[in-house]
Amino acid sequence: MITLSDIEKVYQTKTIETVALQRVNLAVPKGEFVSIMGPSGCGKSTLLNIMGLLDVPTSGVVTIDGQPIKSYKDKELAHIRNEKIGFVFQSYHLVNDLSVLDNVELPLLYRSGVSGSERTKLAKDALEKVGLSARTKHFPNQLSGGQRQRVAIARALIGNPAIILADEPTGNLDSVMGEEVMNILLDLNRNDGTTIVMVTHDENMAHKTERLVRFFDGQQVSDSKVFDLQTV
Ligand code: ADP
Ligand code: ADP
Repeated sequence: MITLSDIEKVYQTKTIETVALQRVNLAVPKGEFVSIMGPSGCGKSTLLNIMGLLDVPTSGVVTIDGQPIKSYKDKELAHIRNEKIGFVFQSYHLVNDLSVLDNVELPLLYRSGVSGSERTKLAKDALEKVGLSARTKHFPNQLSGGQRQRVAIARALIGNPAIILADEPTGNLDSVMGEEVMNILLDLNRNDGTTIVMVTHDENMAHKTERLVRFFDGQQVSDSKVFDLQTV
């Protein structure tokens, strides 16, 4: 479903050249939940941004659902992103002066043909999925970190994306809230078949997913199936 072929990313400033990714080949099949781990600066966010069409590789090809993305214009990229991909970030990225409901509705504002009442219904459905039906009128700063991240997940899934890209979604949460957020992602993957790529520093979270890819200095250094000890 997402394929990265020979991806290289070089950040070039006037004085410094940084190779953030090199020779990355990675195929994430539909419905897989994969974790990406590695030390700070090894290229994880760059990888996620390239997969999510937020950034373009210096060389190599990204393919989504069999479509090579290479020659697309910004507008087309935005369209594919909007249709297929939901983003979740460590620091939630909610809009503080909008209510929970309005935050969740945001991605649909850019989609044509969705009426206001339809938008509200879809937002309520998404909030129900993350267990926040009782918080629609609250504002982000009235919520716990775990609740904020659940709002961010509801916003990511309102457009019914095939793919969720999560950059350290539990990174700012204590273990209890982290577990709650992780369980929501696991449910989305198992029940809705959503493909999830998650960057994490937390081995426990990574071991709940199906596959673990480790990076070091912009390169893939291991790629293995995770065997869930609970099912053994
Ligand atoms: P990680 O997410 O694993 O911490 P990043 O993908 O953020 O790593 O960064 C990979 C490397 O690319 C780092 O060395 C970082 O300093 C560099 N880098 C990231 N973004 C930029 C940028 N916009 N300009 C220059 N260098 C960058
Ligand atoms: P984190 O909280 O995981 O560190 P960042 O703030 O570094 O995430 O954001 C990662 C990347 O995603 C940045 O390149 C940023 O421009 C982009 N980004 C941030 N928020 C959004 C958003 N709401 N929609 C699309 N892209 C975003």
